[in-house]
Amino acid sequence: MKALKMKMIVFLMVAAITTLGFAQDTALPNVKILATGGTIAGSASSATSGSYSAGQVGIKTMINAVPGIKEIADVSGEQIANVGSQDMSVDIWLKLANRINELLSSDKVDGIVITHGTDTQEETAYFLNLVVKSDKPVVTTGSMRSSTSISAEGPLNLYNAVAIAADPQSKGKGVMVSLNDQIHAARDVSKMNTTNVNSFQSPIKGMLGGVFYGRLGFFREPNTKFGNTSEFSVEGIKELPRVDILYAYADMSPDLIDMHVKAGAKGIVIAGVGNGNMTEATLNAAKKAYEDHGVIIVRSTRAATGWTLRDNEFKDDDYHTVVSGDLNPAKARVLLMLALTKEKSLAELQDVFYEY
Ligand code: GLU
Repeated sequence: MKALKMKMIVFLMVAAITTLGFAQDTALPNVKILATGGTIAGSASSATSGSYSAGQVGIKTMINAVPGIKEIADVSGEQIANVGSQDMSVDIWLKLANRINELLSSDKVDGIVITHGTDTQEETAYFLNLVVKSDKPVVTTGSMRSSTSISAEGPLNLYNAVAIAADPQSKGKGVMVSLNDQIHAARDVSKMNTTNVNSFQSPIKGMLGGVFYGRLGFFREPNTKFGNTSEFSVEGIKELPRVDILYAYADMSPDLIDMHVKAGAKGIVIAGVGNGNMTEATLNAAKKAYEDHGVIIVRSTRAATGWTLRDNEFKDDDYHTVVSGDLNPAKARVLLMLALTKEKSLAELQDVFYEY
């Protein structure tokens, strides 16, 4: 009788362990989708019209429009904003970053997907890359065609983004941007075309990986600081210092610098001609902006791709300028806003641009 009882206990224990193991193996990863609007949530009155309104469709409708999404992850959605991303703001960035950090600190969340307009997606993704404090996957996605368009690509982009966020191999890659079967590092990607579905490219470093109907692989690792290795954080931050971008061109007038300083800019990124150049008069105005007002001037480029290098046609130290390396003006602005939340010398600011 005693032996039978013992056998029963052992049997029940084995059954319990097996069931537990089985439950763990089949439980789907938990992916949270944070929606912010954009064309992926846009709708038009005609399926063949390029005109539409961004940010019309709610997150529940978007999830229900993706066949098979619930088979690859346990997905749930949250509406953070519903704007065309031309209206993306620092306030929404802070709300998004705080919510992501809160969600990822929980064992119940394995990854995050953010749906976002394509216009400023690279800026939001790069901002999050610098302030999200987790190794769990964070993926932004969007679409070039509205949800009601003929051949809308949003549902497949969302399906792929969820697959990336649900996959353990996506851990520790920083924030990723995925559209059109590609996976890009937030830092390296740019919107390169106004209308094409293949708009997102990483012109200098190339894509991080690829995804095909949810099957994915990575080709390289990101090579700058992000996430847990980043010194930047949104903790206690309610706003960011004003940083403006100034587009350079032939015969550029120096009083533009003064206008931005007067408007309260603490930093100015120059989308310079070529290797971050500007007219000599503007360069002198930039030097004065630093000497008289402590305004930090970062030289980036209006060229679609390439590095902005120190001491190319003049000594940067002579004009107190910092170069952006391979960061485009929009991303150089994001980094400078965060860098200005800390006390840093010009040399330290230059290092920030090399490291991040
Ligand atoms: N301006 C819209 C946005 O960025 C359209 C671009 C898009 O999402 O494709 O939200």
